[in-house]
Amino acid sequence: MVDAHRTFVIVGGGLAGSKAAEALRAEGFTGRVILIGDERDHPYERPPLSKGYLTGADDRDSVFVHEPAWYAGADIELHLGQTVVGLDRADKTLRLGVGTRVHYDTLLLATGAEPRRLDIPGTGHVGVHHLRRLAHADRLRGRLTALGQENGQLVIAGAGWIGLEVAAAARSYGAEVTVIEPEPTPLHTVIGPEMGTLFADLHQEHGVRFHFGARLAEIVGQDGMVQSVRTDDADEHPAHDVLAAIGAAPRTALAESAGLELAPGPGGGIAVDSSLRTSDPDIYAAGDVASMAYQSLHATGPASGEKSLRVEHWANALNSGPAAARAMLGRDVTYDRVPYFFSDQYDVGLEYSGYAPPGTYDQVVCRGDVAKREFIAFWLRDNHVLAGMNMNVWDVTAPVQELIRSKSPVDPDALADPDVPLSALSGGGGGAPKG
Ligand SMILES: Cc1cc2nc3c(=O)[nH]c(=O)nc-3n(C[C@H](O)[C@H](O)[C@H](O)COP(=O)(O)OP(=O)(O)OC[C@H]3O[C@@H](n4cnc5c(N)ncnc54)[C@H](O)[C@@H]3O)c2cc1C
Repeated sequence: MVDAHRTFVIVGGGLAGSKAAEALRAEGFTGRVILIGDERDHPYERPPLSKGYLTGADDRDSVFVHEPAWYAGADIELHLGQTVVGLDRADKTLRLGVGTRVHYDTLLLATGAEPRRLDIPGTGHVGVHHLRRLAHADRLRGRLTALGQENGQLVIAGAGWIGLEVAAAARSYGAEVTVIEPEPTPLHTVIGPEMGTLFADLHQEHGVRFHFGARLAEIVGQDGMVQSVRTDDADEHPAHDVLAAIGAAPRTALAESAGLELAPGPGGGIAVDSSLRTSDPDIYAAGDVASMAYQSLHATGPASGEKSLRVEHWANALNSGPAAARAMLGRDVTYDRVPYFFSDQYDVGLEYSGYAPPGTYDQVVCRGDVAKREFIAFWLRDNHVLAGMNMNVWDVTAPVQELIRSKSPVDPDALADPDVPLSALSGGGGGAPKG
């Protein structure tokens, strides 16, 4: 069928979906492009919601992926505030909540993820927050302003990236902040205790209190308002507001109901191959919801070999959406980017590349000044670099990723020596990402 007669539908008006729509037009696709999203706002970027937008440094207009007029200009049929509730693969139709049916020739699922909910008593009290959407950020921002003025208490469940970023934002308003975390350090399951401790120190210096080794057990309220929280080790903390920052779950309901293959395990996501194609050849998935098949960048150890990985990061949405669009057009696509993440907390900015949770690495090597928080940390196994994090050191992502991609053994002493260029250590065997 010629392009002009084909209809490509994208479900999910987030970064992956809107960037896929943009890429379809950039690649010269002349058929219909329909982008359906259940939020009323035009597609926007979520990172500012726990950073500049939450602190008030960034204005609302700055978060949108495109100006509203761009969609009509690019001939993208944008349906906002519409939930896709059914997918009939035999008929190639989608059913919208309002009852309308939409035909597709090729479909992209970019339905993202949603915050995990606390399953404890008291979550219905006024003052319990999640953070995923602009409206959540607006509400939280209003409360942080009030907490700052009243010396109020914010309790954050979860010392992951979002929990820590909100802790920093809340301190900028002057709110009192307590973070409850079951692991012994912040970010423990992502980067391990060596670097986790550094984040604990950073936040404690700014007045954040941590309660490690415990989970929230109950949110106690009075007259329907949050009053305190109880932890499962029988402690109690005063609270006016509680943020549940305990991770996100992929929005797979549509894919699951249509019988598409999901990656195994909890939070597995929609299984896609290296061209981002699902178990149905006419359906692709990208962004937070997709679980990508990839040849692990780990040369040895438990994380080596053929894996599937769901990456919940901005750069993955930014790049996998367009990669899926190119694959939908029949281009040869192998999506094999090194996972990448960035974060800003107080005066610390960082980028993290790779994948090295505890249990996969055997040492952490640093180059630079850790005490001044100007350094690069490398996670190694058998002298192979699995991941790297540059903190307040910039323009090193390419060589760090090259080290990971090359799978070449490195000398840890040379890695720690700032006089040895990183590019001299990678052996040049990795090649650029193809997606
Ligand atoms: C507060 C916050 C801060 C973050 N900060 C960072 C950061 O600093 N660095 C970083 O790398 N990453 C960060 N991330 C992660 C990053 O924002 C996500 O990886 C990215 O938004 C994923 O984009 P996506 O398009 O895949 O999914 P989403 O952004 O979740 O978009 C999916 C869209 O699809 C819609 N949808 C779902 N199901 C349906 C349906 N059935 N019908 C219609 N619409 C549907 C959803 O409502 C949503 O609008 C942050 C995330 C959050 C929430």
